[in-house]
Amino acid sequence: MLLLDGKIVRDSRVSELKRQIRALGFTPRLAIIQIGTSGRSHAYVKAKQKFAETVGVEVELVTFSGDISPVEIHADIERLNADPSINGIIMQLPTPRGIDHRPLVEAIAPAKDVDGLTAYNLKLLLENNRSGFVPATARGIISLLDFYSVPLEGKRVVIVGRSLLVGKPTALSFLNRNATVTICHSFTRDLGAITKEAEILVIAVGIKRLIGKEHVSKGQIVVDVGINLEDGEHLAEEIAAPKLVGDVDFDAVQGIVSAVSPVPGGVGPMTVLSLFENVLEAAGRQSRASH
Ligand code: NAP
Repeated sequence: MLLLDGKIVRDSRVSELKRQIRALGFTPRLAIIQIGTSGRSHAYVKAKQKFAETVGVEVELVTFSGDISPVEIHADIERLNADPSINGIIMQLPTPRGIDHRPLVEAIAPAKDVDGLTAYNLKLLLENNRSGFVPATARGIISLLDFYSVPLEGKRVVIVGRSLLVGKPTALSFLNRNATVTICHSFTRDLGAITKEAEILVIAVGIKRLIGKEHVSKGQIVVDVGINLEDGEHLAEEIAAPKLVGDVDFDAVQGIVSAVSPVPGGVGPMTVLSLFENVLEAAGRQSRASH
């Protein structure tokens, strides 16, 4: 069985990404807006900061307490939109309960929306127009499969999960590569009967070990997007390195499927890589537009 190792792919791209970023002739800047202090979103922000440093991107971290009024966040987004030294802006998701991230994300200028989550960029994805930004996880999943030379055209792809952040953009990305796509969600009946029919199965749900041997069939390529804490959410705040597990029961499926992405080390590193590929694209486009 082949391991779809996102760390290998990421590491193989780092030097080329660094070279392309250096070739811009200026240091691109990414603003990360972080609301609240959940241990988990803090870990994601740290991973992005670390990778930014590796590839030569400067990060401006804009933090707000969880009880901030959206009006104040809007004011900062306007400031970042207008600042020509900022090339990309992302909002770290999820935002704390009670803060609706949609209008905030929508306030980000589409040219700086490197997470590809504004209506403008999602519409370009819907149109298969490459001038937008593809959400990082979707872009990362496709890059992971491309790296391992998994053909997509004409393939039967099943995506479990239909969030705007992961499931839907991933489904559109496969559709744009001429795959035949089925999307499953919490109302789907007889999940296993559908997932077994897939040639490529992508799981983005957030339930640990949801997918077991009764959901897979011989020869499938399985991409596990889920990131779950093995010991329950509250423990993450208490222990330094909580154990992460995916949505797929790795041990149960590994004797059956022909490839699977591990958690951690599969889609996660690809998402970070893809974000910075988007930052590079944003910086390049803005620089060309200003000359
Ligand atoms: P989300 O917004 O909670 O969406 C979960 C989706 O799963 C929903 O569409 C939901 O259906 C569906 N679902 C829930 N229970 C189900 C069931 N029993 N059977 C089938 N479908 C079911 O989550 P998300 O933001 O998409 O994230 C999904 C997972 O990916 C999480 O573990 C998250 O941490 C992880 N993630 C990983 C990365 C990465 O880089 N690796 C990036 C982003 C997210 P309904 O629509 O019907 O509710």
